[in-house]
Amino acid sequence: MSQTASTERVVTRTCPLCEATCGLELTVRDDEVLRVRGDRADVFSAGYLCPKGVALGELHADPDRLRAPLLRTADGWREASWSEAFARVEAGLGAVLEAGDRNVVALYAGNPVAHNLNLGLWLRPLVRALATRNFYTASTVDQMPKHVVSGLLFGDPQALPVPDVDRCEFLLMLGANPWESNGSLWTAPNLPARLKALTRRGGRLVVVDPRRTRTAAHASEYHAIRPGTDAAWLLALARVIVVERLARPDRLAKITQGLEPLRTLLAPFTPAAVAAHCGIPAEHTLRLARELAASPAAAVYARFGTHAARFGTLAAWATELLNVLTGNLDRAGGVMFPLAAHERLRAPGGGGTGFRIGRWKSRVAGLPEVMSELPVATLADEILTEGPGRVRALVTVAGNPVLSTPDGRKLDRALEGLDFMVSVDCYLNETTRHADVILPPPSPLARPHYDLLFYRLAVRHVARYSPPVFAADGPDETEILARLALIARGEGADAEPAHVEREMLDELIGREVRNPVSPLMGADPEALRAALDGDTPAERVLDFMLRSGPRGEAFGRQPDGLSLARLAAAPGGVDQGPLEPQLPALLRTQSGRIELLSPLIEVELARLAGELAGQGADADLLLIGRREFQSNNSWLHNLPSLAAGHARCVLHIHPEDGRAHGLADGALAEITSGAASLTVPVAFTADIARGVVSLPHGYGHQRAGVRLEVAGAVAGVSVNDLTVGTVEGPSGNAVLNGVPVRLAAR
Ligand code: SF4
Repeated sequence: MSQTASTERVVTRTCPLCEATCGLELTVRDDEVLRVRGDRADVFSAGYLCPKGVALGELHADPDRLRAPLLRTADGWREASWSEAFARVEAGLGAVLEAGDRNVVALYAGNPVAHNLNLGLWLRPLVRALATRNFYTASTVDQMPKHVVSGLLFGDPQALPVPDVDRCEFLLMLGANPWESNGSLWTAPNLPARLKALTRRGGRLVVVDPRRTRTAAHASEYHAIRPGTDAAWLLALARVIVVERLARPDRLAKITQGLEPLRTLLAPFTPAAVAAHCGIPAEHTLRLARELAASPAAAVYARFGTHAARFGTLAAWATELLNVLTGNLDRAGGVMFPLAAHERLRAPGGGGTGFRIGRWKSRVAGLPEVMSELPVATLADEILTEGPGRVRALVTVAGNPVLSTPDGRKLDRALEGLDFMVSVDCYLNETTRHADVILPPPSPLARPHYDLLFYRLAVRHVARYSPPVFAADGPDETEILARLALIARGEGADAEPAHVEREMLDELIGREVRNPVSPLMGADPEALRAALDGDTPAERVLDFMLRSGPRGEAFGRQPDGLSLARLAAAPGGVDQGPLEPQLPALLRTQSGRIELLSPLIEVELARLAGELAGQGADADLLLIGRREFQSNNSWLHNLPSLAAGHARCVLHIHPEDGRAHGLADGALAEITSGAASLTVPVAFTADIARGVVSLPHGYGHQRAGVRLEVAGAVAGVSVNDLTVGTVEGPSGNAVLNGVPVRLAAR
């Protein structure tokens, strides 16, 4: 064997780049990734991977990825030691907090937190330490309606049912494009193959979307819908099922409140009444409702396109309503609740404290809190609007809200006016360029990996753990967030970060030894702590969660169960079978039943019925977003193999609409919304509905001071410079789809 070959090694790793969580096989040498392949032995993905996974080595090697803290100085950025950087944070946050109002510091956590074990576990201590009401995340950009509806119906906003795609016979999908995204709030590697298998076994995939997406192109049936009208159309399906007495909630009937008034509440949503509103002829609605009701194993799945839109909460509610009415909620082949290996054991069935929103409201717009968060669409106003409680400092963690949240230019402006900003981020990007201090975590390949969030959304009970591939060249995310938390608590930049791990384990262990349904009830906490496995803080916490989880080995009490060591010994992961029914055990509503109706939903139904009755003239054009295969929000645009040869940031428009606006295919157009005007090339495509235009999101890398060389060369424009800061109903989710725009030739 050659000298070169002797230093190569092959390691397996779960891809941390999207929700599909594919197993990868990396060939590495020293600090270099030589090759990335799909891991054929992976129990979940069986060798599948996409171009983003192949580019993981580029992320590790990216020369623009920050390796040391950056401090802003009068002469620009300079690298600093970690102790100097934390001292600067202590001074900056301390100056803002000295007046005693915790709410003047805001925290924004971005989407990559969900893909990072260290951040996923250590964000909570930081949130607690900051003790601010100004907590924002990417959830109010794309998914808060799902949480609100799960909170209302099941009493648990994190109980998100997913289509049981491998056993499903009829899948109705709205506002989702898994052929490009690989799934959203739905973890199933190689979804295209799973959807093909569905149709091959005689099932039907029906896609409803303003665009004939790649998913729609593979569907059994496709219908174009007007953006922002999904709720009305789903309610029309439900009305048909109720009025024609096709509802078969079966065992759900006994545990569901609110079925009786549906006939009255759904009365306005006849297929004929919604046809003009949605653009779907009544006969199709009638037929699809009957087919959905007749299928023995059907699932209704609606995602981003329907949630980041007007009436997003009602669309999410109508989705689950259909799954309840057809008896497909919590049934094999319908939509099911995953139970991840690291989840906490809970007493079976029995209700809980229910779900509340609005425990506090945002200062300027008066928007209600949901899950302790405020809508990020209002963050700029909280910074820009003078008065007591104005946000004067910001902590961002793995987020780029200037590109990913609405009215990005306004937020860009607002960030300039902060007294202090610190960002935990590996790039100097459109958001972090406003920071005073940037604290870069190590390479994604230098941390342990386990998908805390996505196993709670996975279509099988799987678990995989990946140890770090390379040594970290600085403090990991747990230390960075722990130090920030300790600074926020007033304990100083030199306080011991291990205190935070100790507190987390105290809390976790303490809860389990007092939990009457846990096999650890009454165990000695110190003995449990001493038995923990793992080289890093996150590994030790994960080990405890796995061992005390629903399929854990319970510290020797259930020897066949899971632990970190058992996962480490199974690089391709452990598959513990298909999903199983969880109701009524999972319910945490006050009644212990599925609470289908609530005052909040009834208000939304009446509000939408009122709009239907007074349908006005349409806007000229409605703007929607677009997800593309080689992109994931804004975070992978600096990787050469994903950016090469692509000019993807173009405005899709139907040829007839284009010509009606005096445009030619490929010409430049000026697009104007209530927030901004941008110049963008247009691309004609008959795959988009008349009256709709589409831009991909995550672009707009032309801003000064950004250090993203590759992304800068394919800068594009930011669709969120066009989205205005409106939110949909009760969830506070940003309205990013169905934004009225005007178009003119340049
Ligand atoms: S589909 Fe997602 S998880 Fe799989 S390789 Fe691509 S980016 Fe990674």
